Amino acid sequence: MTNDLRYRRAALKLGLLLLLAACTQHANSRHADLVLIGDVRTMDPQHPHASAVAVRGDKIAAVGDDAKAWIGPGTRVVNVATVTPGLVDAHCHLYELGTDLESVDLKGAASEQEAAQRVIAARGTRGRGWDQNRWPGQKFPTHASIDAIAAPVVLDRVDGHAVWVNRAALEQSGITASTKDPDGGKIVRDERGEPTGVLIDNAVSLVKEPEASDEVREQRILRAAKLAIAAGMTGAHEMGIQRKTEAVYERLADEGKLPLRVYAFLRGAPDAPPPAPHGRFTMRGVKFFADGALGSRGAKLYDDYDDDRGNRGLWVTEPGKLKEEVEGAVAKGWQVAIHAIGDAGIGSVLDAYESAEARHPGDLRLRIEHLQVVAEKDVPRVVATHAIASMQPTHATSDMPWAEKRVGPQRILGAYAWRTMLDRHVPLAFGSDFPVEEVGPLLGIYAAVTRQDATGNPPGGWYPAQRMTIDEAIAAFTRGAAFAEHAEDRRGTIAVGMDADLTVFDRPLSADHSLLETHVQMTVVGGQIVYQSNQR
Ligand SMILES: [Zn+2]
Repeated sequence: MTNDLRYRRAALKLGLLLLLAACTQHANSRHADLVLIGDVRTMDPQHPHASAVAVRGDKIAAVGDDAKAWIGPGTRVVNVATVTPGLVDAHCHLYELGTDLESVDLKGAASEQEAAQRVIAARGTRGRGWDQNRWPGQKFPTHASIDAIAAPVVLDRVDGHAVWVNRAALEQSGITASTKDPDGGKIVRDERGEPTGVLIDNAVSLVKEPEASDEVREQRILRAAKLAIAAGMTGAHEMGIQRKTEAVYERLADEGKLPLRVYAFLRGAPDAPPPAPHGRFTMRGVKFFADGALGSRGAKLYDDYDDDRGNRGLWVTEPGKLKEEVEGAVAKGWQVAIHAIGDAGIGSVLDAYESAEARHPGDLRLRIEHLQVVAEKDVPRVVATHAIASMQPTHATSDMPWAEKRVGPQRILGAYAWRTMLDRHVPLAFGSDFPVEEVGPLLGIYAAVTRQDATGNPPGGWYPAQRMTIDEAIAAFTRGAAFAEHAEDRRGTIAVGMDADLTVFDRPLSADHSLLETHVQMTVVGGQIVYQSNQR
């Protein structure tokens, strides 16, 4: 009996203590750290618009008129035009962007001579962004035009699937007329078989470059991250990094120096299960390549290229090997993302995914990166595998001047076909593939809703049946991106209890050219204002 009484008293005491604790917490929790008042586009299909959002700590505390009740003496209140969930680029290369910032920008060069001149003027040994499709004659460049530089020079093509090097780089790497083309790669040669200075797909790895130190890697990441948050990004899906870069990311995240969330994919087959997350850095995915790119005719097609009969592109990974790699990675608990651009490349990924899913039933979230030219017969297979369509709207508007020449009038109907995917309820995640394209999800949203270039061409949009609404496009950069990293229960929508990742704009977002004049006013990651524009 005494025991029972003692127990009751203890329970009562505990109950009172808990009640007291709850009251104190409740009193404090009525005050938000930050309240944004304006058009809040929640991306929550039940309540798409709200008038305000309150942030307390690293979470969203209230949404709508409720949020104003959270304003207290210490609350920072900002009137804004538009708030969306934090924009996430679901396919980009943050580390490579940092590398690029150290190298000569060849984007927009109108001829081989102009590109070469930029490199020579900068005395550069690294460069990126050349595109022979923009040049008269559309012919590949040669080493001769950059041989004026004595050190080895390596210049990446705009799509990252070919390099243009000088004689010194060829010599240092031992690439000669007798070097054989590697599997899935091509050394461009003259009539005598001599390398001309362009190496495509797997042949790129024949070029030997010195390894970057940890300090250099850190600088690259931080410089790129600064650009990303200024463009309104709260997260990046870092598509294919080395272990050494992973280690630097983990350290930066542990030290609290990473301003945005990075969800990374390891490049190449993993030897162990995925590592534990480190703060804002998580590496849970692995990136493989099925084929090359359309610009350099490396994308693998079921039939010949329309503008190069007899050529069907290249396997970067043979289908049998791809299947094994996917199986190995899924068995170790990794999420798989595979670069696939040509219809046959995509077909080989679907084969590999069907087989992995049969052996490992579950929520695998297998991703197809780019999904650029899909054969009609494969669309039902994309649906059936539950694959995530990880697409980049600005690729469509960059490639539209020449894409149809490559694949012809029939296959182009399945190209950059995000509306086709959306209508079949294929989960969409949007990105930019920067530094292939510019940094800035707004550019992607603009391309997705208009299918036009920055000058508004073509009028009405390129294959306009594939256009999306603005909410659909924002969702692909928020909710869709969150789903593509197993995080839709924490991020991607503005709702109570979600991580406080927000992007704030200086005007309403509408599906027209005004998107290109819209500026990011503030970027909030986990309740912390990581970027603020100095306008207004
Ligand atoms: Zn990429």
